[in-house]
Amino acid sequence: MSEPAIMPQPRPGIIRPDKDTFLAEQNPFEAMMERFDHAAQLLNLDRGLYKVLRNPEKQIIVSVPIVRDNGEVEVYTGYRVLYNTSRGPAKGGIRFDLNVTLEEVKALAAWMTWKCALVNIPFGGSKGGVVCDPAAMSMGELERVTRRYTASIIETLGPDSDVPAPDVNTNERVMAWIMDTYSMHKRHTVTAVVTGKPVEMGGSLGRREATGRGCMIVTREALARMGRSLKGARVAVQGFGNVGSVAAEFMAREGGLIVAVSDKSGGLTNPSGLDVADVQRWVQEHHRLAGYPKAEPITNQQLLICDCDVLVPAATENVITRKNAPQIKAKVICEGANGPTTAAADEILDKNSILVIPDILANAGGVTVSYFEWVQDRGGYFWDEETVNKRLESIMVRSFSDVMTWAERHKVSPRIASYMIAVDRVAGMHRLRGMYA
Ligand code: GLU
Repeated sequence: MSEPAIMPQPRPGIIRPDKDTFLAEQNPFEAMMERFDHAAQLLNLDRGLYKVLRNPEKQIIVSVPIVRDNGEVEVYTGYRVLYNTSRGPAKGGIRFDLNVTLEEVKALAAWMTWKCALVNIPFGGSKGGVVCDPAAMSMGELERVTRRYTASIIETLGPDSDVPAPDVNTNERVMAWIMDTYSMHKRHTVTAVVTGKPVEMGGSLGRREATGRGCMIVTREALARMGRSLKGARVAVQGFGNVGSVAAEFMAREGGLIVAVSDKSGGLTNPSGLDVADVQRWVQEHHRLAGYPKAEPITNQQLLICDCDVLVPAATENVITRKNAPQIKAKVICEGANGPTTAAADEILDKNSILVIPDILANAGGVTVSYFEWVQDRGGYFWDEETVNKRLESIMVRSFSDVMTWAERHKVSPRIASYMIAVDRVAGMHRLRGMYA
């Protein structure tokens, strides 16, 4: 790994005068920018590139009208942000959620850019979202929203330009509709336009589990550095969706005790360890954790500060803040979600010697296997699951070790080390390509 010279003094003009901690704890884009600024300053990033990299390349806002089942027309707002495509096609998920905002999508697209650069896969970063509540929509309504949104952003989509994937409240069913809509417009089947598809239609084996598996791998590596292992480690997981439930399952398989889990409906705790497969069956049947009989109820806030060795925030942004950070007891935090920790909380966790495996590393397993899926679709040659998992393992282990080596050498946190490696790679590509004007 090549390294740029580190300049000890902040470069004048790079720290923004409007830096506001309160704003950064509310606004995910500000939270991202604060870390980016820190990394840019330590990298001595030149002013021109600094300006380029703090702005998204493209921001699209569309209206998504559909006819609801009751015959009424409803109009939803959709976003797609391409943050940076210097290293390759934009890559990033699509979320359906009432809390989606343009600021959030911008932050998530930037995080995708840094994440793909950090694990060194040839993608830029993007993200999309539709402001809607999928829980209050029928399957037909969801399909119409997906297809209309896809048609509205179709010019930017494509295997060589922008490749969506699942994110909050979207899944392989939604990816199948996107693939079909895009292919109908192109008049031929284009499987590589989207990843996280059903395996039968060009999806990759191992993609569904990839993010959770990646979380397990980096947590195992982090514990090993402390002379510990997942065997007997007490783990609390916030969020029981595709990331959290799989992370819990894989950590339990390695001998971890899953002492608490939660979702929007609340949390469960059992200090002697939950039976993850049993909890997964309950959720499949009841669509929520609440009511599960073989554990005590706890709140999401209590889960974050419960007595555990490993905390996996795998739900949403800004849940670990300066308010609850001082009470966190975990020794390792593995950020399954994007942006769960605010910049102000970082400082507190650092001071308390808690090892935070940052989101752009911890949850990069998903996009890594998305990359494998895209490669397989384009090559028309599919790998067995063992090959997928082995290649994922080697990328996660290597990326974790790169980050820790950098962090130790430059005396920065793993988060800032991750940003530095990623920003340096993206900036390096810009330097090589030069400015087209
Ligand atoms: N939505 C996931 C993420 O935030 C996966 C993105 C992808 O596979 O493109 O990393």
